[in-house]
Amino acid sequence: MSVNETQTVLVGQSRAQLREWAATTLGEPAYRGAQLAKWIYEKAAADFDAMTDLPAAMRTRLREVARVTPNTLSATQRSRDGAIKCLLRLADGNEVECVLLPYEERVSVCLSTQVGCAMGCRFCATAQGGYTRNLTAGEIIDQLLHLQRLSERRITHVALMGMGEPLLNLENALDALRLMHDEIGIGYRRMTISTVGIVPKIYALAERNLPITLAVSLHAPDNETRAQIMPVNRKWGVDTLIQAARDYFETTRRRITFEYLLLRGVNDTPEHAHQLASKLRGVPCLVNLIPFNYVPTPDGFQRPEAERVRRFRAILDAAGIETTQRVERGHDIDAACGQLRGKHLGKPIPLLTHAKG
Ligand code: SAH
Repeated sequence: MSVNETQTVLVGQSRAQLREWAATTLGEPAYRGAQLAKWIYEKAAADFDAMTDLPAAMRTRLREVARVTPNTLSATQRSRDGAIKCLLRLADGNEVECVLLPYEERVSVCLSTQVGCAMGCRFCATAQGGYTRNLTAGEIIDQLLHLQRLSERRITHVALMGMGEPLLNLENALDALRLMHDEIGIGYRRMTISTVGIVPKIYALAERNLPITLAVSLHAPDNETRAQIMPVNRKWGVDTLIQAARDYFETTRRRITFEYLLLRGVNDTPEHAHQLASKLRGVPCLVNLIPFNYVPTPDGFQRPEAERVRRFRAILDAAGIETTQRVERGHDIDAACGQLRGKHLGKPIPLLTHAKG
């Protein structure tokens, strides 16, 4: 589809806004706007041709003045385990990634909130390209709609865990989640926001008092190690961050997820595990252990051996800290954050499907 600057983009607008727009711009009854919302969000329709209960004349008019989606699909990779990763092109030519992760009991998506990222985590592929801009609410929910079209089952869970730092784009991120809640019917309990630890924004999110799961990318139990791999730690240290997570639990009653990326010889020693266990004692939480998904970095980080991961986990278990190990998916499709886009910018990637047009 060619991008026409004068067209109104419908994804990102609520049912109420679409009703208003149908009445004022199209001169149609407001319920036509509600029908549009149903097609766009509940049925993930990509274009007006599919909207068969709208009069043909109205659909013709719609094609002239509006388009459904702000983003176009520019590449898709399918993993043998069922994960699907998409690269979407935004109207301004920038690109972001999103991933569909089908499990037996749920279908999750991982969405981006910014083009690039300013946080500079030393192990992250996205960080290496720097920050470009925030995504709009429409550009965020549009990722889910693209993935829904590629999924055989309905999406049940949403994680803002793709490219970018969601808490530095909090209003747009929350607008997108509210649309998913109101227009698609996904419960806030099935939504997760993952953060490097922007402490004042954790309190701002808590103030909304929504039952959204907060995932904190902790990755080290002490300031020295953490500051070395996550520059943000120089602003908000480990103890301040863990206190913010505790306070988030006190307000929302949602158990905190601490993400813990394991880098060989950096943060994966038994001492780190003991220190982590003592820092998290009494915090209602779950620790998600993530062995480094290898990307080339200036520091030459490596993935720890399975035995080391097992020992790290055993120490937390013994201390009564609940752990999970990320079920790793899509290894064959560069599912780690930023990898697909990184490759796409550099050299061609093998594509299984390519967007038409
Ligand atoms: N900015 C947010 C969300 C995006 S990153 C945050 O930092 O939480 C999502 C998760 O992927 C974070 O836990 C991040 O630390 C982790 N991550 C980044 N690069 C990774 C890699 N190469 N291997 C494994 N996890 C990685």
